[in-house]
Amino acid sequence: MDVVPGSSPAELQVMSDVAIKFGRDSLKPADSVDMGVVICDTCGTRFTIAQPAHHQNTEAAERQATWLERRLTHDHDNGFEHDDAIDLPGFSRN
Ligand SMILES: [Zn+2]
Repeated sequence: MDVVPGSSPAELQVMSDVAIKFGRDSLKPADSVDMGVVICDTCGTRFTIAQPAHHQNTEAAERQATWLERRLTHDHDNGFEHDDAIDLPGFSRN
């Protein structure tokens, strides 16, 4: 993948972390690694937290898991379907 650092918004997409619904692996970024699984308390849908292989961070993944649990609950509270791919906040990587 050709990415020039700092060149365009496209870089942000490459670096972004994302949660992918089980069975939708084709939506995963090509160079991502699985950092954990979040299961929706309400409907049991499973999501894999994926981060870029060269930029993975366990602490960030734990925060993302907590964030995603709230997001999934929020979906149900508002009658939304869960998206197949959910962009995750990056959180600080120290
Ligand atoms: Zn759910």
